[in-house]
Amino acid sequence: MSKISRRQFLQTSTAAGTLLTLHPFSARAQGNQAHLRVASTTDLHVHVYPYDYYGDRPVDNLGLSRTATLIRELQSEATNSILVDNGDYLQGNPMGDYIAYERGMSEGDLHPIIQAMNLLGYDAGTLGNHEFNYGVDFMDKVNAGANFPIISANFAQKLGASGRNDQLHLKPYTLLTRTLTKGDGTTADITIGLIGFVPPQIMNWDQRHLAGKFEARDIIDAAKAWVPEMKEAGADIIVALSHSGISTAAQTDGMENASLYLAGVDGIDALVTGHHHLVFPSDKFSGDGIDVAAGTLQGKPATMGGFWGSHMGLIDLMLEHDGTAWQVAGSQSTTRAISQRVERETKPLVGDQDDLLAELKPVHDETLAYIRRAVGQTSVPLHSYFALVADDPSVQVVSQAQTWYISEMMKGTEFEALPILSAAAPFKAGGRGGPEYYTDVSPGPVAIKNVADLYLYPNTVRAVLVDGATVKDWLERSAGMFNQVEPGKDGQLLLNAEFPSYNFDVIDGVEYEIDLSQPSKFGPKGDLLNPDANRISNLTYNGQPIDADQKFVIATNNYRAGGGGQFPGADGSTIIFEGPDTNRDVIVRYIVEKGTINPAADANWSFKSHPDTSVLFETGPRAVDYLDQIKGMAIEPAGDGADGFALYKIKL
Ligand code: MN
Ligand code: MG
Repeated sequence: MSKISRRQFLQTSTAAGTLLTLHPFSARAQGNQAHLRVASTTDLHVHVYPYDYYGDRPVDNLGLSRTATLIRELQSEATNSILVDNGDYLQGNPMGDYIAYERGMSEGDLHPIIQAMNLLGYDAGTLGNHEFNYGVDFMDKVNAGANFPIISANFAQKLGASGRNDQLHLKPYTLLTRTLTKGDGTTADITIGLIGFVPPQIMNWDQRHLAGKFEARDIIDAAKAWVPEMKEAGADIIVALSHSGISTAAQTDGMENASLYLAGVDGIDALVTGHHHLVFPSDKFSGDGIDVAAGTLQGKPATMGGFWGSHMGLIDLMLEHDGTAWQVAGSQSTTRAISQRVERETKPLVGDQDDLLAELKPVHDETLAYIRRAVGQTSVPLHSYFALVADDPSVQVVSQAQTWYISEMMKGTEFEALPILSAAAPFKAGGRGGPEYYTDVSPGPVAIKNVADLYLYPNTVRAVLVDGATVKDWLERSAGMFNQVEPGKDGQLLLNAEFPSYNFDVIDGVEYEIDLSQPSKFGPKGDLLNPDANRISNLTYNGQPIDADQKFVIATNNYRAGGGGQFPGADGSTIIFEGPDTNRDVIVRYIVEKGTINPAADANWSFKSHPDTSVLFETGPRAVDYLDQIKGMAIEPAGDGADGFALYKIKL
């Protein structure tokens, strides 16, 4: 870990060790003016140590111990400041899983993220959607330890006829009374109103914890209900803590990413946003009502501070007292990062706050033990040496977890009765990664860090709705992995070197053969090469030839569903479900809940046989240990391949 002490950082980053300069609003405030800085974190997801617990290695792009250095600098730059968190704090990394699944929360326990936030002196927080992942009792126990109010205006035990009559689970808002230092050094009191919002989609995403017991109201409806009451109660200014993204899509009831429309609610002066895991202002956002140059939504200052502690979100307000009330006379929205990318490397911009690291050292060490210890058992080896030539356990376990999760998510929706298929590809399957670049987990204990090996990318889960004809085309696209083979010939090279293994989707839930004698319908990038080609043969669902018109739900990830790899039926327009959970989290949950997993491949796909025809296939040298597991295929070692790979011959 590249550790820079705060003192060293200051000396290296400022000329001759001079102190940090004041923000212009603090420097130029007049006697009737005061600078108020609203500093915010969002989507921390339990990241305090700059450590990737899946990879079991230190990193420089996340961690509140780094963001804390920014927080303390930011506070020293402003005459007046408050610090708020915008939700998704208690779940999302193995430390969060460790507390929820292993250590538990007893009455009086302090959750590590709350411990850290207490130490930093947060003024308020709100709920994100992930606060519900371990159930409401767990969340309540976590929140009980906070030395600051946690508010949510649209999460209810029971909705009333209107927002003001909702029986909310938490207080909808909080009023902070603060003494501001004005430009002339004198002081004056202000009441800062903070109100919090969560996407109503929690009712679907966490229905197993919430159904029948809780309800959620539309964000804008809730704001319109409570903001006037905050004004009546004496709020001088109101800042929305909106755990919701920024979208220019037409406003709908129950909208997930509603911050743009929330900005239009009278009485709200500024917005902390989040949920998207992006940075605002930035060029990731554009459209009507969004002014990236000014950092505003519908003219109101807004910010989004990345995720995992990557950035601080900052709203600087120049407040002016006109004799009767405080007004916002000027504003600036920015973010500040803890790291930067330099020539494909992540370089830290700040060091750690050692008091935070010291405070959380015990739970960090316990988390390290947790990720290295078994969370479940596998009765079969999970390896990817033959993932490109046969149905494979390392892909099977991903498919099983995805199917399990999407089945839960489809409950109570119009898609509940549809068959659920699952698409997954081997991420680590040699290729440009080299002969050691394979998943290889022995039978027996499965540790959390193995899950990173099974699922390399921090993708999130998606479901798409397609018909049977598209299922076939999806598989035709995958089958471009292979070179065309001439029947009756020996020793032909199997894999198309231009085709990355992560685009070789296997679809679980249907059965099919791949006929290598046929040309590929699609090229390696997804371009249509041979419109009439048919590599996929004997495609069946439930033992019957697939019905081209039948509707199927396919569980997949955000990359594929959003158009990654240009798969037929996956251009973003077919998405029916956007999961808030990473595929990795889903696999961990699946293993924890099942205890023992048995993802023996079900051999739902194979190559179509051709007499007197063989192909050559390269894989890692350790594949030989698992050769006896390959059933129903004539495969034998054929010496050394290039660059340390081992060569195998497959008779089709
Ligand atoms: Mn989040
Ligand atoms: Mg399978």
